[in-house]
Amino acid sequence: MAAKNPSGVATRDIRSVLVHASGRDWGTVDDLLDVPHHCVGRNGLGVHFVLCNGNAVSGGNAYDPEWDGKIQEARPVEQAGFHSGDAVTDTTSVAILLVGSGDGRYTPMQISALENLIHLLKVDTVASHECAGFDAGAWWDGD
Ligand SMILES: [Zn+2]
Repeated sequence: MAAKNPSGVATRDIRSVLVHASGRDWGTVDDLLDVPHHCVGRNGLGVHFVLCNGNAVSGGNAYDPEWDGKIQEARPVEQAGFHSGDAVTDTTSVAILLVGSGDGRYTPMQISALENLIHLLKVDTVASHECAGFDAGAWWDGD
């Protein structure tokens, strides 16, 4: 377990980004806790960012461009996540969860938001969990 200061904030050495999919093609950070998912853990959502796809309303049939590609913060990046099933990876990575069924199809706005976020995080290594449905490492390297 990473050492934490009394405020509970761990100073982390962030080395990579791990991309996940929510497993459902609609939703926001507020309702993803209802989804049975390996990124939902002890202290709420175990990922750091959620990238919405425009289907923010329950049921998913009301596309709202305001929500397409929206980046929501789920957990401070200073805190280790709970998403990879591996304590070392959880401690050294930032988790980004794309709203989507996991078939590898995302909106262009989501992909663009993902790209911007990875640039901001200044990490060298990008990978995806199998739930994402695409190889984010190959995608990023081809950029
Ligand atoms: Zn995953």
